[in-house]
Amino acid sequence: MSQPSAPPASSDVVIVGGGVVGAAISCWLKAFLGFPGSVTVIERDPSYARASTALSAAGLRRQFSTPVSIALSRYGAEVLRAAPTLFAIDDEPGPDLNFREDGYLMLAASPSQEAAIRANHAVQTAAGAETLLLTPDEIAARWPHLRTHDLTLGAFGPRGEGWFDNMGFLTAVSRRARAAGARFVTDEASGFEMQGGRVAAVTLASGARIACGSAVVAAGPRSGDAAAWAGLALPVGPRKRTIFVFDCATPPDPATRPPMMIDPSGVFCRPEGRFFLAGAPPVEDPEVALDDFDPRHEEFEEIVWPALAERSEVFEAIRLQRFWAGHYEWNAFDRNGVVGPHPDVANLVFATGFSGHGLQHAAGVGRGVAEWLLHGGYRSLDLAPLSWARLLENRPLVETEII
Ligand SMILES: Cc1cc2nc3c(=O)[nH]c(=O)nc-3n(C[C@H](O)[C@H](O)[C@H](O)COP(=O)(O)OP(=O)(O)OC[C@H]3O[C@@H](n4cnc5c(N)ncnc54)[C@H](O)[C@@H]3O)c2cc1C
Repeated sequence: MSQPSAPPASSDVVIVGGGVVGAAISCWLKAFLGFPGSVTVIERDPSYARASTALSAAGLRRQFSTPVSIALSRYGAEVLRAAPTLFAIDDEPGPDLNFREDGYLMLAASPSQEAAIRANHAVQTAAGAETLLLTPDEIAARWPHLRTHDLTLGAFGPRGEGWFDNMGFLTAVSRRARAAGARFVTDEASGFEMQGGRVAAVTLASGARIACGSAVVAAGPRSGDAAAWAGLALPVGPRKRTIFVFDCATPPDPATRPPMMIDPSGVFCRPEGRFFLAGAPPVEDPEVALDDFDPRHEEFEEIVWPALAERSEVFEAIRLQRFWAGHYEWNAFDRNGVVGPHPDVANLVFATGFSGHGLQHAAGVGRGVAEWLLHGGYRSLDLAPLSWARLLENRPLVETEII
């Protein structure tokens, strides 16, 4: 996808990882904020065949429980809508990233789930996100084929959330970054040369080294390994998630097709063209090997299909079309992003650990990290809640999930 070039001897900023997060940082730095220095992105596999970005469900929701996540999603939605202008290169318009603002529908079937929905709704409303609380009757009126007998409440975002073209977004930010002068190098970063408590250079598997002013870790599920090169313990590693794509023998009327639906069982499902895309939180969730991409096929038969068939007659007769497994870059501390410099290694900046919501937040994180590299602080959205401080001070920033 990128047109790789040879590694330079030095670069003001070296970004390890050219997935959506690393590419967005390079794009905001060079294309949007006018960073005058050199920016180099190191990517070990420019096919992105196993990158989380490529294997994602590509949803964007405002239904989070922390103001910083809600604000990041709001900015992500703005960027997706503005893509044809924002990612234009010379006279060529940027792509339509097919942002389907059809909403998320979160369903509660227990007092604790209902309490979580109501508490999140209060935070979302205060943060300006329009989330509607729906009674079971209101849910049945909007989506008549959904069975609502067990439900107590639902939450639905009619605007500003939905799903989009994940690889289109990655292509758009990397093309725009390259057009503005960012350099993409195909190689594997293999270590940091440390000098006086700073990263002096990034070493590459090819044997080359790139002296740097600052280094950025945006290596997705491999970020924990990269942090260790600087002697830092970052609890980010790969957790497997399997996605299933199916079609229905009797598809629902498009007018009453559910949006991105999160069932009380934890199973999610959303339309994908004439198909549906679905998945479930795994029963057991160990860290897996970096090369373990074997789909957990049994999740379809045992969890996904039974839950969906229970929820709607349209999901009773379905045919599995394809499935794949990808890795979340899982932050075992609190399942939230780690963004910004480490206090002990001031020129080493992190942007990782998003644990299932990094694609939708990549634009805001890209902008924030670029601001930090340019100005030494955040200028638009304060990303301090995602800093290392909370890990070092044992203050988890946990999103209240409904399930
Ligand atoms: C099944 C699944 C469903 C998901 N659903 C959603 C969703 O609905 N919404 C959402 O917002 N997010 C979702 N996510 C999460 C989202 O996809 C990720 O948070 C996001 O893509 C992370 O982007 P990244 O650039 O950090 O990581 P990646 O896309 O993994 O990119 C990291 C890149 O770094 C490269 N790299 C790693 N180490 C090195 C090295 N040493 N040297 C050079 N290159 C290196 C890798 O090759 C890779 O290309 C999902 C993820 C999965 C797996």
